[in-house]
Amino acid sequence: MKSLKENLQKAHIVIIGSGIIGKFNALELSELGLQVTIIDPTEIQNSSYAALGLLMGNMYQKRKGRSWALRKQSIELWPQWITFLQKFNSELNIEKPLIQLTTNEEKFKKLEKFIYENNDQNLQILEKDSIFIKNINKAFQTQNIKGMISFKDGRINPFSLLQTLDKCLRHKKINFLEEEIVKIRKLNSQWISTTRNNENIKSDMVILCNSLKAVDLIDSIISPNITLKPVLGQAMEIDINEAEVNLLSLPKQFNINGINIIPKSKNKLIIGSTDEYSTNPEENTFEKLTNFLDKKPYWLMKGKISKKWYGIRSRPDGQPSPIMKNFTDGLIICTGFYKNGILLAPACSKWVANEIKNYLF
Ligand SMILES: Cc1cc2nc3c(=O)[nH]c(=O)nc-3n(C[C@H](O)[C@H](O)[C@H](O)COP(=O)(O)OP(=O)(O)OC[C@H]3O[C@@H](n4cnc5c(N)ncnc54)[C@H](O)[C@@H]3O)c2cc1C
Repeated sequence: MKSLKENLQKAHIVIIGSGIIGKFNALELSELGLQVTIIDPTEIQNSSYAALGLLMGNMYQKRKGRSWALRKQSIELWPQWITFLQKFNSELNIEKPLIQLTTNEEKFKKLEKFIYENNDQNLQILEKDSIFIKNINKAFQTQNIKGMISFKDGRINPFSLLQTLDKCLRHKKINFLEEEIVKIRKLNSQWISTTRNNENIKSDMVILCNSLKAVDLIDSIISPNITLKPVLGQAMEIDINEAEVNLLSLPKQFNINGINIIPKSKNKLIIGSTDEYSTNPEENTFEKLTNFLDKKPYWLMKGKISKKWYGIRSRPDGQPSPIMKNFTDGLIICTGFYKNGILLAPACSKWVANEIKNYLF
């Protein structure tokens, strides 16, 4: 009988989709010594490139179930991945802390209860006299903002992360094919992935990380009972032309009433993201993204959009996100990430690696 090591080294795995999930899986599997090919016609428009990179793990208020388990594992794995990836980009880091704010008294009470019940030193209520709250109140001309700070959560720059992963995957000699897969099928003991140019790629296993299109590829071979809905998310960079406001006096990343805010310089900030159940961006992005307070501060009202972008995420209909399923015949689906793909990538690729080890042995 062949050893696990021999089986792993011989096996060829095809990963369809090269967003954050495809890339993380490729890296995790190459670390096991597997031969990996990752296939994607164009990654530049995927949702991973649109992400803001907030890692909201510890501040997640539900402390049981699969969603929490995946977050918990990802929080533990992220520091190890950062150390590993820093060999390829010494500047890659997670900027901490992360602040969640609300003007809604009921939501604040829930935050207080959550923090009281969890007794975690890394999660704290932000008192009215904290420097963060004072600076936010001053800049946003508010008095009723309250919230919590998570010292373990933060933000990774998604563009930098994706570029670093690419560098690492090239170093690991992972095959990359710039093609669209239009069909997959099983022939004898092998999987055949057919490209739009009619090229057939053989592999022992296929991992579907191609978001909305994943279901199209498996519909004809199994009845997956999975529906993925597109949820478009928009974000924008705004230039503030106001000498009195210094955005750098604000925390590095924070969320007010569900909207994420990332000051980039003294007079530039990123705001995101919308939730649009559609594939075409709505027109009124500025309004949607800046209406998170009863009264908009004057400088934000006068702000000018300098960049605007969007990404289409896939949200499972009728079941929790993400979809992680092993169809047992060498076919795995790991997609439907909706909001937290960047955060959850380490835990989900670990799950895929374990499934593969079990299948090949
Ligand atoms: C505006 C915005 C802000 C966000 N902010 C955050 C955040 O702060 N934190 C966070 O954790 N998450 C955030 N997200 C969510 C996060 O971006 C997604 O959960 C994550 O990117 C999903 O990654 P993915 O690899 O599954 O999908 P994608 O990045 O969409 O990649 C799927 C890939 O599959 C490829 N593909 C499709 N069909 C085929 C085919 N037939 N053959 C080959 N390839 C194919 C596509 O070209 C694409 O490159 C945000 C999303 C948006 C839109």
